[in-house]
Amino acid sequence: MNNAEDHENPAHPGRRAFLKGFGAAGAGAVALVAGAEAVDGLLGPEGTPASPSAMAVPVAGPWRPGNGHVDVLWGVDTAQKLVALTFDDGPMPNWTPMVHDVLDAERVKATFFLVGERLAEHARLVHGRMDRHEAGNHTWQHRDLSRLSHDKAVEQLRRAHAAIDRIVGKEPRYLRPPFGHLGGTTLSAAGAFGYDIALWSIKMLEKTYEDDPPRLVDYIVGNTGPGAIVLAHDTGNRDRLVALRNLVPMIRGLRAKGFEFVTLSELMNASQAPPRPPGARARPALRRG
Ligand SMILES: [Zn+2]
Repeated sequence: MNNAEDHENPAHPGRRAFLKGFGAAGAGAVALVAGAEAVDGLLGPEGTPASPSAMAVPVAGPWRPGNGHVDVLWGVDTAQKLVALTFDDGPMPNWTPMVHDVLDAERVKATFFLVGERLAEHARLVHGRMDRHEAGNHTWQHRDLSRLSHDKAVEQLRRAHAAIDRIVGKEPRYLRPPFGHLGGTTLSAAGAFGYDIALWSIKMLEKTYEDDPPRLVDYIVGNTGPGAIVLAHDTGNRDRLVALRNLVPMIRGLRAKGFEFVTLSELMNASQAPPRPPGARARPALRRG
């Protein structure tokens, strides 16, 4: 367990340097908390970062003009019953078409965090199917950006961005870093593209409920609140099928509670969060896991 105050701890010089660099980049308090989490995960046994080049934000740029901050969001502050369904790691032939079929039949909008290389190889899977949906950047090769240099992280985002723009016909506005891992270069590379970073507030617990689909449906319908971002995957391990095969009861259950499905950008537009005073903590409690 750690929190933003830990950055004065002299046993964690890497984290302190990271936070200072991060502050210089002008990022918000929410991201500071996320940054502290990520740094901890990469500290070696003696407190040294496993990959120093990926820890610090390269404050010398290259920043795009006018681009001074990156927001990291788990969800959106809104009283409106809006929810953003997100699907990561596709497109792949195994389940992506099935997900599109369900979303089309239920007339649900979603956001797909696409892996660029997979998109380039399976472009036909998304042709004519993304009109209602939003496309986000999930890197070119599903790389852990927190372990890459700024230049390599930028390259991962650049190639995926270009593929999404070319094949889907929409420019991504959000990065979802693979594995949810954040490092300094994750933030600096996102900043170079003007992205915000979209994590999630609730995810499909496929492993937990693989053999009990009704409880997975109850879990999602019962725990999704206004402004939630739901994480699902349209490819991957076979256990993920339990979520994809039960999308219809989840969608209908949430609609019965008054929820409307929107893209991530639409969810952000509904944000009612007041500007944070300088130095304020983001929230008293963050949902973990
Ligand atoms: Zn992923």
